[in-house]
Amino acid sequence: MPASITSITEHREATKSATPPLLSIVIPFFNEDEALIDCHARVVAVLDTLHQPCEIIYVDDGSNDGSWSQVIGFTANNHRVRCIQLSRNFGKEAAMTAGMANSAGRAVILLDADLQDPPELIPKMVDEWKRGYDVVNMQRKQRHGESWLKRATAHLFYNVINRLADINIPRNVGDFRLLDRKVVDVINSLPERNRFMKGLLSWPGFNTCMLQFDRDARQAGTTKWNYAKLIHLAFEGITSFSITPLRIATAAGVVTSIISVMMAIVLVSKTLFWGDPVAGYPSLMTVVLLLGGIQLLSIGLMGEYVGRLFIESKQRPNFILMNEQTAEPNTDFNLK
Ligand code: UDP
Ligand code: MG
Repeated sequence: MPASITSITEHREATKSATPPLLSIVIPFFNEDEALIDCHARVVAVLDTLHQPCEIIYVDDGSNDGSWSQVIGFTANNHRVRCIQLSRNFGKEAAMTAGMANSAGRAVILLDADLQDPPELIPKMVDEWKRGYDVVNMQRKQRHGESWLKRATAHLFYNVINRLADINIPRNVGDFRLLDRKVVDVINSLPERNRFMKGLLSWPGFNTCMLQFDRDARQAGTTKWNYAKLIHLAFEGITSFSITPLRIATAAGVVTSIISVMMAIVLVSKTLFWGDPVAGYPSLMTVVLLLGGIQLLSIGLMGEYVGRLFIESKQRPNFILMNEQTAEPNTDFNLK
């Protein structure tokens, strides 16, 4: 490591005693070499207008396209840029966790590298924060550049999760939001391995406000999400914030048991008093298949929860840092 470069951990220690920066902008990325230069230029331009000490934390989530060397380049003449490299692709949730754990700012803003969340809105978010809000959620007015299927499934997802979960997960609010230090500290202290960020970020509560914005289309590159990942995320969200599906399974079991007892009484009485012949094969098959289906579904559902317990019980870390780089911690966060 060059003499002027120090590790993030040392930097954190050094900044503890010094005045912390006003803002930490956490930018997780995975193979974003086409978008990063623009992203950096726009973020720096916006931070310059704040005339306050700020830091930008780039988290490389296992990119293999040269994005890391790009962000390292950003640190060269800029005391405000810190770079963290994870040892492989852990997923955006883990990358954000790593960024927040290494942030020092009095507030943290989570931003996508693909510029779908316009950095120009940062000053507005800071204004709300200074007005006393601890969490500034950014709600998408429209979802430009997204297919009707994605919009429809997103709509369904919010309906289901808000009906099932114990906390309120605001509709169409992504990870782009401002969090006060006290909220970040709460989130950093949450030990769980299943990190469904939309839920975790809303879980602490505090004074929350909502700003609306038009979400832009992706600047360059392609989305890192596919439907399989999104379905996995939806399951993760529901199972880590609610046990209602288990209760529904129990209720289904109770209802089918009651119906079976009533049917048994009817069938036995008919046979005893009227000597009815055995009911037909089709009705028998329907009942057997229906019950089999309900049972398999309930076992699968239980498996989802048991699987999550299994993952939690192993207590593996959420991410592994491979590399960290930052400018010398002279703690002079001045802009130029
Ligand atoms: N991302 C990440 N790790 C991943 C997938 C995505 O750090 O495994 C980053 C990605 O580079 C981008 C942000 O998370 O900065 C949002 O991802 P993307 O644009 O693919 O998601 P979308 O906006 O389509 O929901
Ligand atoms: Mg995106």
